Amino acid sequence: MRDPVGFLRQEYQELVKADLDWKLRVLSGPSTPWCQIDGERKLMFCSNNYLGLSNHPRMKEAAIEAIRTHGVGSGSVRPIAGTMDLHLELERRLARFKGAEASLTYQTGFATNAGLIPQLAGDGDLIISDELNHGSIIDGVRLSKAEKGVYRHSDVQDLERALREAEAHRPSYRRVLIITDGVFSMDGDIAPLDRIAALGHDHGAMVYVDDAHGEGVLGEGGRGIVSHFHLARDRVQVEMGTFSKAFGVVGGHISGSRDLIDFAYNKSRTWLLSGSHPPPVAAACLTAVDVLEKEPQHVERLWALTRRFKKEMVALGFDLGKSETPITPVMVGESRAAKALSLRLFELGVFALPIVFPMVAKDKARIRTIMNAALTDADVGVAIDAFQKAGKELKLI
Ligand SMILES: *Cc1c(COP(=O)(O)O)cnc(C)c1O
Repeated sequence: MRDPVGFLRQEYQELVKADLDWKLRVLSGPSTPWCQIDGERKLMFCSNNYLGLSNHPRMKEAAIEAIRTHGVGSGSVRPIAGTMDLHLELERRLARFKGAEASLTYQTGFATNAGLIPQLAGDGDLIISDELNHGSIIDGVRLSKAEKGVYRHSDVQDLERALREAEAHRPSYRRVLIITDGVFSMDGDIAPLDRIAALGHDHGAMVYVDDAHGEGVLGEGGRGIVSHFHLARDRVQVEMGTFSKAFGVVGGHISGSRDLIDFAYNKSRTWLLSGSHPPPVAAACLTAVDVLEKEPQHVERLWALTRRFKKEMVALGFDLGKSETPITPVMVGESRAAKALSLRLFELGVFALPIVFPMVAKDKARIRTIMNAALTDADVGVAIDAFQKAGKELKLI
């Protein structure tokens, strides 16, 4: 008889053999600059906790207090009985922070893209997506019945070509949706959202930006990519983001017009059919927005450290690719070399993961570092010294 679940072990073992399985490193304790990883004290150099907010005292207090006042769970999905005053307050504060008419929170960024994208464009519509967009966008697009087009990474001329081709089909397309990441997570480059928004405007297409890595990083006080480019709010109809990165907690969100929000929460299946945030999560996110408004020093610190790190790494002879943000890939080339560098860095006390094929092209393996505002100047020095030592040993510099 055929074993109906034999594929589980077989496919897993194939991944192990190809060295493509995830070997999980375990944090015992908080995600702080120096943390306990696999039982040893290491310098965290690859978390998305850009501003160190996951351990901000006011946010921790707010979460604890919300458990006291509201409990540990919301009891339901948002539309039935799971909307609490904390959720609405968070959405009001986020909209104000973003300078938008309204905001809506989802359970995660992934749930936002998977729930909203298929509703914005469906049968008879067209979605045009940057070829390097995040996997959650790709999955959201797959869930849509719309036709799908891809443009070359950040290539506005290629996007214009796709829009012109779509126009040649009109009026067969009801709607056209352009989607791009704000900051691309593997290279740390910034999407040319100003030119994308202008093209969207000229061609009557909606523009959707996933600013997961731009929030708390770009723009005035970390308000994100729309602020970074000083764009009129109505030129980027959907500004999507997450509380799981610079905001230091968890949760997805969108900001835009009141019409967008009313549409989104009545239609997104991930929003309608999945439980809402527990009170401590909503309260911590709400306090994160407040912290960003009141403590601009975190974002300033993040950039000061980023500039220093890039400058010294380039001076040492490292190739930092196309990075323009605190995501700084250290380009290595071969997967094997990237893995060796990551292991050596770990021995030297620095935790930074290799990014290898199939996540990036075979000859574009790298160590992806992410700067953190909570690091001290001395900590960044430790990281640079480790890169210098390991880089020389492995003949990368
Ligand atoms: C991390 C990330 C997401 C997913 O956000 P979560 O809130 O962690 O689910 C979506 N898009 C991009 C570009 C991301 O980097």
